[in-house]
Amino acid sequence: MQGQMMHRDLRIIDILTHAAEAHGDQGIVSARVEGDIHRQSYGETLARVGRLANALEGLGVGRGDRVGTLAWNGYRHFELYYGVAGMGAVCHTINPRLSQEQLLYIIQHAGDRVLFLDLTFVPLVEALLPDLPDGLRFVLMTDRAHMPETVLDALCYEELLEGQPESHDWPEFPEETASGLCYTSGTTGNPKGALYSHRSTLLHAMQVPICQTSSFRAGQRILPVVPLFHVNAWGLPYTAPLTGMTLVMPGPHLDGPSLFRLMEAERVWSAWGVPTVWAGLLEEIRAQDRVPEGFGDLVVGGSAAPKVMIEAYEARGVNVAQAWGMTEMSPIGTHGILPSALEGAPEPERIAAKCCAGRRLFGVEFKIVDDDCTRMPHDGVASGELYVRGNTVISGYFENAEATAAAMDAEGWFGTGDVASVSPEGRLVIRDRAKDLVKSGGEWISSIDLENAALSHSAIAACAVIAVPHPKWDERPVLVAVAAGELLPDLAEVRAHMAVHFADWQLPDDLLWIEALPLTATGKVSKLTLREQFSDYVHP
Ligand code: ADP
Repeated sequence: MQGQMMHRDLRIIDILTHAAEAHGDQGIVSARVEGDIHRQSYGETLARVGRLANALEGLGVGRGDRVGTLAWNGYRHFELYYGVAGMGAVCHTINPRLSQEQLLYIIQHAGDRVLFLDLTFVPLVEALLPDLPDGLRFVLMTDRAHMPETVLDALCYEELLEGQPESHDWPEFPEETASGLCYTSGTTGNPKGALYSHRSTLLHAMQVPICQTSSFRAGQRILPVVPLFHVNAWGLPYTAPLTGMTLVMPGPHLDGPSLFRLMEAERVWSAWGVPTVWAGLLEEIRAQDRVPEGFGDLVVGGSAAPKVMIEAYEARGVNVAQAWGMTEMSPIGTHGILPSALEGAPEPERIAAKCCAGRRLFGVEFKIVDDDCTRMPHDGVASGELYVRGNTVISGYFENAEATAAAMDAEGWFGTGDVASVSPEGRLVIRDRAKDLVKSGGEWISSIDLENAALSHSAIAACAVIAVPHPKWDERPVLVAVAAGELLPDLAEVRAHMAVHFADWQLPDDLLWIEALPLTATGKVSKLTLREQFSDYVHP
């Protein structure tokens, strides 16, 4: 027997119409590319989003068409999220840090009709121009006064909106309609597209705050340092208006001092991003010997948060939680909010729990399997490849049957490429990316665990452990480190420091000092680049 309840298709635009009405005193604060701070309420944003949708129709954008964006975190980018999806088209966010070859591939593969870009990226698109598809329209996300000289035949965003009516008759369509497209950075092969729907986006936006995280508090301010150009800034452009929070958008300035200034001036309560960004902010916090006023909640994800970083923020009264996820998962799969049983627990126990990736969100299912695809128990001990399932997980890659076949198993689960264990309470421990594990003499060594131990040495500011080929053991771990100061301890000293946590054979064979660690397009440490850099490494 069927229930007798109405069915209303979930639509992204309804988040904003709700926020404009219910949270009209909240909105978006943006550090603009033009150099100033800009403020607008959700009500004003909705009016501009209506104008934008009308303008897009005027440009010939229709249902299902892809509209590309190359932009920082700011209100105009936010408007594109809602205007494009609201009219039934697809907002294709493009990561400007990718190589030119990857950018061309993505724009062509997505079939973008229009490309919206921040002023910063004009030279980049000019360089791509000869190879871009004919007929691609360009819109510069600025006003007439800031329009630059350019060879691009480009429209001006503010002019496009001018004169358009504020209201738009937002269409109804099935909630499975595509709304957003994001390509993974693709460490090997071409980038692969995750095509989100209105339904998956709404469910994700609702699943995240119900995990009782302290981040979401109506009337407070939240800072996505995680970019809107990658995996929808972990869904914050949707969860923030939904939960009545003001978004503080950092624009292009993501270094520690700039973030500190913005956070303090705008009284940011919660900030979200990758560990490398929080390492930069921590340096500034140490220099000033205080945290930005009003700041109390930090969400770290994208790669494992080092234990020393968690300890340092917690010691200054900032509540730290890890989140784990993937582009293919909208992206959040777990959140590290502590179970109430651990709230009053001794500090080391709380920190140890915070070093895990957290518990799965409602609606996300896990299984871990061995090499024969046999399920392993969720006992917190057994570790294997992690597969996921749920309404916010891709069912395949956008127009890429080969990659889809490689990623999905026979039961329809998505293979994450992470090696993990899961505790009976659903707490996830990421041992490593499968490709980053060090395979020594048939035994696995977790690079994440080694890095955590090395980072607790005061002379090491940042580090990465990579596997290098070994004639006898297959692979051996090598520690690549960035010095915190003048002091360069030798291998023996660092190994002795790490030895408490590891057997001798698990410790790194060598210690190599470098100036800075290479980063990926999403700001994580690029172990692929390091492996290439040290590909002709010879064991001492
Ligand atoms: P990209 O490299 O394109 O940014 P994703 O953002 O999809 O790709 O990265 C997903 C991967 O990042 C995960 O599979 C996992 O290996 C890693 N990751 C994300 N969050 C965490 C975390 N909290 N701890 C450890 N690894 C993480």
